[in-house]
Amino acid sequence: MWGEILMVNREKIEEAVRLLLEGIGEDTEREGLRETPGRVARMYEELFAGMEAGAGEHLSKTFAVDSNEMVVEKDITFYSTCEHHMMPFFGKVHIAYIPDGRVVGLSKLARTVEVFAGRLQIQERMTAQIADAVMESLNPRGVIVMAEAEHMCMTMRGVKKPGSRTITVAARGEFERDEKLKDRFLMLVK
Ligand code: ZN
Repeated sequence: MWGEILMVNREKIEEAVRLLLEGIGEDTEREGLRETPGRVARMYEELFAGMEAGAGEHLSKTFAVDSNEMVVEKDITFYSTCEHHMMPFFGKVHIAYIPDGRVVGLSKLARTVEVFAGRLQIQERMTAQIADAVMESLNPRGVIVMAEAEHMCMTMRGVKKPGSRTITVAARGEFERDEKLKDRFLMLVK
């Protein structure tokens, strides 16, 4: 459940970090590094708390509404970890949906983003998982999710293009069928 301590294998992580340090030629016994394996293990518990969390519980509490106007929640900040390099990628997620009689508390959308960001991810999958979770839990007429992120594996190494952002979009239901609706969303989050 969200908020509970993840059952990661701390010892394994600590051992791995020690090997990693040795691998880059470090002295694991020097003062600055002695506590590092333990610190990294505890940090991983936090970073990957979404592994065991489900989005369903955050999206299960819904409220009835009369009008089915588009709901937009933009600029939800997120931090995730890319599964190809185990480096951070971070940025903003924008979500819009067209209710079908029911809406969810706005903070719950941010919680949902947190759940899927708290895993080893690729941005495309994270974007799709958020859209699918909203679709499944809320049964809206449509949902669209856009993520814009900077990937440290791109900006800190390799091609080194600081500030470059990767944009991914996942559209479901009416947003998938209606280009005008999609355009309206893109205008709103620009
Ligand atoms: Zn990467």
